[in-house]
Amino acid sequence: MKTLRDIENLQGVRVFLRAAFDVPIKNGVVVDDFRIRAALPTIEYLRSRGAKVLMVSHVEVIQGERASLEPVAVALGKLGVPVKFVKDYKKAFGMMENEIKDGECILLENLRAWEGEKGNDKKFARELASLADIYVNDAFSVCHREHASIVGVPQFIPGYAGLQIEQEVANLSKAFDPAHPFLFILGGAKFETKLPLVNRFLGIADTIFIGGALANDFFKAKGYEIGRSLLSKGDFDLAPLLNDPKILIPVDVATESGENKKADALAKADKIMDIGAESVKIIKGKIESAKFILWNGPMGLYEDGYRGPTLDIAKMIGDATQRRATTIVGGGDTIAAIATLKLEDGFTFISTAGGAMLDFLAEGTLPGLEALK
Ligand code: ADP
Ligand code: MG
Repeated sequence: MKTLRDIENLQGVRVFLRAAFDVPIKNGVVVDDFRIRAALPTIEYLRSRGAKVLMVSHVEVIQGERASLEPVAVALGKLGVPVKFVKDYKKAFGMMENEIKDGECILLENLRAWEGEKGNDKKFARELASLADIYVNDAFSVCHREHASIVGVPQFIPGYAGLQIEQEVANLSKAFDPAHPFLFILGGAKFETKLPLVNRFLGIADTIFIGGALANDFFKAKGYEIGRSLLSKGDFDLAPLLNDPKILIPVDVATESGENKKADALAKADKIMDIGAESVKIIKGKIESAKFILWNGPMGLYEDGYRGPTLDIAKMIGDATQRRATTIVGGGDTIAAIATLKLEDGFTFISTAGGAMLDFLAEGTLPGLEALK
């Protein structure tokens, strides 16, 4: 994979920069600019070397909001990156040729306003590619998507990884060749999306602790009563994993009724909301001896306040980082759950990606990375 730093001369070069500006927007204003700030090193790298930067991103449609990147243009300006906002990419052709000077930037409107983006339409990708001389991808969180701006454009112009992608790949790849003992803590929900991770890391990790709603699927497979607890959907078979000595599951749980119960002692009316105190102690022991820790997924339904064990684990992993264990954390909900702790510097690396991180860890690569080869 070629990276931005392999390019010798950027002066006057037209760069198509695929960024990840899908930030939360309320009443037309960006409410969390974390992802925009994360893109600044690559933007500054390009601007300071005289590139003409065409920034391109998607933004999700959020209830009641127009799915527009216009608020991102404002936010970029506040962060010291003035951009010309362009609603129709066809208008950008002339601007990139005549209007934009070296070191200046354009931000294009939400790419998903065009059908060709999600469908990876070849003609659309070729048109986008003709706007620039080179392609730079700094949107790791979207690299699992085979969209035109991720895999299509670099078919037509030379493609490079941005500084953020370099960081993500370098740090997440540490999990493929870790120090031991290696503890993998996996929580959250939807086993159908996380089972490939378990299968891959059974060959690498020394212990895999499975918590969150994922544990419910294990309890069920073991024949425990799980009452009204959340189960994953879809087709998967946990039977081969049930007696694997590397896999640990919670021994106790917190229920909606406010009780701490043994995992195999639930009643039909019970609903599991979190892991229990005894289980946190077991994880603590494992964290204390680990030299490498990978963590994805909250232990409980944190949106409803069940975040005690998740926060305890975050702090323990922070302590592990202090005593020089390598600690890697990621996942949209995981980061949201621990955001209040101000532990940004408490881990070796925090991934900005959700689904892309899971796919990268399970597969070792992503379509968007392959497209840069
Ligand atoms: P991430 O985004 O970090 O990868 P996931 O999306 O896999 O994490 O999972 C987060 C979701 O799992 C959250 O909505 C959380 O409430 C839910 N969850 C975790 N434990 C439970 C539980 N015991 N019951 C219901 N939902 C749970
Ligand atoms: Mg999630």
